[in-house]
Amino acid sequence: EYYRLRNEVLGGKATLRFEQRLDALIISEERASNTALKSLNNAASIKLRYQQRLFAVVVGGAIILSALFYSLFRRHHMTQTLNRDLTQAHETLKAKSAELYHASITDALTGVFNRSYGMSSLEAMLLDRRGLPLSVSMIDLDHFKNINDQYGHPVGDEVLRSVAQSILSTLPSDAVLARVGGEEFLLLLPGRPSEESALLLSQARQNVAQQSVWTPEGPLKISMSIGERFVSADEQTPAAQVLSDADFALYAAKQRGRNAVVRWVDGAHSSKLLARPGFG
Ligand code: GH3
Ligand code: MG
Ligand code: MG
Repeated sequence: EYYRLRNEVLGGKATLRFEQRLDALIISEERASNTALKSLNNAASIKLRYQQRLFAVVVGGAIILSALFYSLFRRHHMTQTLNRDLTQAHETLKAKSAELYHASITDALTGVFNRSYGMSSLEAMLLDRRGLPLSVSMIDLDHFKNINDQYGHPVGDEVLRSVAQSILSTLPSDAVLARVGGEEFLLLLPGRPSEESALLLSQARQNVAQQSVWTPEGPLKISMSIGERFVSADEQTPAAQVLSDADFALYAAKQRGRNAVVRWVDGAHSSKLLARPGFG
């Protein structure tokens, strides 16, 4: 009906022209839509390529980051291990150095301080007295040679060890006891009034004299003589003089019959004056 009516209105020629124009329009529209489709296609493939590249970049980046993290983690782990090893080595070294220091100030036979530590302590305590007195004593075992002669050197050594420990056991913790010679000891008692240091020396002497030293040869009796130089708070006497005074008092104690404590007294020149009755 449409075509009949159109033919009626337009006539045959016009219809043909119209249809030709219509076909041309359709063709051009198809071309346009083809071009649009092509450009859409292009856009889609560009997008795909872009996505592929993005994916490759993300994956590559992730791999690089993982490698970086792994190497950082390895480095951190290695640093930690190294640090632990270093700390351990430091601790070992500290312990070794403490051990060495202890050995360097200790008398190997008796376990008390050695001569060099005793002497430097004397110097240090004389210099830094903080307004307090210092008691300096020389101690010598009585007739020690007899023990060596009678029982042998190893027993003599045992007696030395035992006497040193016995003296230490009666002393306060701030006392410094050092073996300065074969059977001679230096004793420093800092910061006490003279009566107190005299009492401590007397107790140490009595303790050694009353106890027996247990040796493979059986129990042995031993005594010791003590010469004390009491350095009062305000005096400035050099260490060598203090030691010589203490030695002088020790000599007086031996003269007095041994197993005694004698204090050096200023101006006294004879053992009789030094060996005050009741002191030792
Ligand atoms: P005194 O009462 O006059 O002090 O008599 P003493 O026999 O103790 O004195 P002397 O100085 O004549 O003897 C000390 C002895 O100490 C001589 C030595 O054989 C001995 N002696 C020294 N050092 C050691 C040691 O490390 N071990 C042993 N076992 N004996 C030692
Ligand atoms: Mg001696
Ligand atoms: Mg002796």
